[in-house]
Amino acid sequence: EKQHGVRELARAEERTAHNYHPLPVVVAHAEGAWMTDVDGRRFLDLLAGYSALNFGHSHPALVAAAHAQLDKLTLTSRAFVHDQFADFCAALGDLCGKDLVLPMNTGAEAVETAIKVARKWGYEVKGVPADQATIIVASGNFHGRTTTIVGFSDDPDARDGFGPFSPGFVTVPYGDLEALEAAIDATTVAVLIEPIQGEGGVVIPPEGYLRGVREACTRENVLFAADEIQAGLGRTGRTFACDHEGVVPDIYILGKALGGGIVPVSAIVADRDILGVLKPGQHGSTFGGNPLACAVGHEVVDMLATGDFQRRAEELGELLRTRLEAMVGHGVLAVRVRGLWAGIDIDPSVGTGRQVCEALMARGVLAKDTHGSTIRLAPPLVISAEDLEWGLDQLAEVVGT
Ligand code: PLP
Repeated sequence: EKQHGVRELARAEERTAHNYHPLPVVVAHAEGAWMTDVDGRRFLDLLAGYSALNFGHSHPALVAAAHAQLDKLTLTSRAFVHDQFADFCAALGDLCGKDLVLPMNTGAEAVETAIKVARKWGYEVKGVPADQATIIVASGNFHGRTTTIVGFSDDPDARDGFGPFSPGFVTVPYGDLEALEAAIDATTVAVLIEPIQGEGGVVIPPEGYLRGVREACTRENVLFAADEIQAGLGRTGRTFACDHEGVVPDIYILGKALGGGIVPVSAIVADRDILGVLKPGQHGSTFGGNPLACAVGHEVVDMLATGDFQRRAEELGELLRTRLEAMVGHGVLAVRVRGLWAGIDIDPSVGTGRQVCEALMARGVLAKDTHGSTIRLAPPLVISAEDLEWGLDQLAEVVGT
């Protein structure tokens, strides 16, 4: 009996903008790595809310932190200070090894915040002439959906029809250090890149690239802003994807998992000489840094501070890599794996990424395609090895020839 789900799907189609093409599943309940739909069917979640659910669905510690805060205080706005704010900022700043934290809500807002801060720093500290600041970004980037951000996307779906766009961005090929160095000039205030491109299909830059970006930025007095929204907070087997090259950016841009899959929480984290450029009235958000967000975000930071989730991602990531590499040549053209995160290029003769995801869904596994023929796997870090193996068995059977 699948009546309920079919009806809900039709109702959703009927009453929402069609800015997504979801898989035809209507989820009603979830715990850990498993989701249950309105008709009682169970699915293994190998997407984890695009890494927003790194700790799985309904993690008891996160749910407890949210519940406790719900009963006390949920919103003050930043017009007043609340009792969860300082502790959250201190804990997140410490996790990042930085002085200051500026909390926002969504990833796109955090990226916008980094852009504003980098420009202001450029004018006030670096001495770039008024309104001349440029920011270097990478081809294939994904930083969110605001008009400024889609203006420097090279994905036609993301940008076409949404102009005119904000000037001041220069695009260079991702992973090409020479091109990036050549693009830096006296107007450059920041390099804004993802240490691994998630939406791009889990694209890992060549070894040494992030180190090279760090060195170039230091040499040229340019801020390195790392968008760790999808890559950071345990996903790759380290706290940050930049950690793999021992690199510390000037600005960490965080989101997704920072809200524990419960509330939207994003932030930028940087030292005082950078974030200190903002003065009262120059930036803000009604909901940014609200008590509920801080309570949950603080618990997220405490969980990450143990290192357990990073270790788990690294260990399970080895299993993921071994299994996926064995599929290359058997319906899979190439795989890219870093921690518990993988981009899988499906052989077009097997079908599109979408078709593979639909076949997986029929077997009780939920994943999502990106860019036509690539599937991204980002299982919750709490997934058991057995469940992961089972999910990968399903994938092997779907793509296997
Ligand atoms: N930056 C990166 C690297 C992302 O992957 C995403 C979302 O997928 C964003 C920014 C935008 O985050 P949000 O959807 O919360 O605005």
